[in-house]
Amino acid sequence: MKYIGINGYGTIGKRVADAISLQKDMKLAGVTKRTPNFEAKMAADNGYNIYMSDPTKEQLFEEADIKVAGTIDDLQDKIDLIIDCTPEGVGAKNLKSYQRAGIKAIFQGGESHKEIGRSFNSAANYDENIGADYVRVVSCNTTGLCRTLTPIAEIAKIRKVRAVLVRRGADPSQVNKGPINSIVPNPPITPSHHGPDVQTVLKGVNIFTIALLVPTTLMHQHNIMIELDSKLEIDDVVNKFGESSRVILVDAKNGLGSTAEIMEYANDLGRLRSDLYEIAVWRESINIVDNELYYMQAVHQESDVVPENVDAVRALLELGDSNVSISKTNQSMGIL
Ligand code: NAD
Repeated sequence: MKYIGINGYGTIGKRVADAISLQKDMKLAGVTKRTPNFEAKMAADNGYNIYMSDPTKEQLFEEADIKVAGTIDDLQDKIDLIIDCTPEGVGAKNLKSYQRAGIKAIFQGGESHKEIGRSFNSAANYDENIGADYVRVVSCNTTGLCRTLTPIAEIAKIRKVRAVLVRRGADPSQVNKGPINSIVPNPPITPSHHGPDVQTVLKGVNIFTIALLVPTTLMHQHNIMIELDSKLEIDDVVNKFGESSRVILVDAKNGLGSTAEIMEYANDLGRLRSDLYEIAVWRESINIVDNELYYMQAVHQESDVVPENVDAVRALLELGDSNVSISKTNQSMGIL
């Protein structure tokens, strides 16, 4: 059995912890917490072993009556691999400590490709990362782009991709972020970093992205235009998305015309935290004019990268090829 630790139990970390604990071929050894807040209490209630990432806070955990199993160093001694879910920029600083401990590590999209050396998306490049020591699961937006560009690249020759990303201003629990009444080109430069980020996993794809932030917390929304070098029909695209893993087609005419309604759908599916791991493509938006493919999609930023983290564990620990892993992850998480 392979033992996994999670460093950073926030938006991504708690979801990844739950997903890892659903797998039969790996075991969650524990999660780290910095502060004994409600999330620490709930992690303890879930039966997760809690390790302190900041040992100077031991007394605070004692006062909050939260039992800890040790420090992050103790956790590192017990595991084969750590999934670093700390805030942007912190993960890369932890790399040396994981190297010293002799454990493999998975980082998140807040870290740069350059610092970690490898990037990961299940559909795009799982097999290239089998047996690697360190990898970064690309960001929520990049994951969304890779999920739908990969199947298109399988049925057509892509000449150029242009994408306009309408990004959520903050996650629902982030009270200090915005904007609350503005549309902000962010980053204000073109291309945004998302296009080059896609190229770290989909090598050679010609892509140009522009991004803005809007006052919403629910999802990102992408508008994608693909110049094609081969002939494609709308039905080919609909059928390909229909059979692609972690992509779903949604119909505005059936009441799913907005990110709010799509999140309501995820809620009605009975998903934990109302998560939608799949990328939702609006069926009505799919069009081809003058050999250029257009479509619009929605990305649940808090959860689309979660199944990719589980697959990245199997790739690094050599627990199966991409088909085996994707199917095990999908089945365990109830992914459509
Ligand atoms: P978050 O702030 O919700 O959670 C981070 C957790 O790490 C918190 O529990 C925090 O207390 C803890 N932490 C802070 N400093 C730490 C340290 N030095 N050592 C250990 N733990 C520490 O952040 P998040 O949104 O979960 O983001 C984590 C990573 O995932 C980032 O790289 C981010 O870019 C990426 N990501 C975020 C989203 C999203 O929409 N939230 C989507 C995809 C990828």
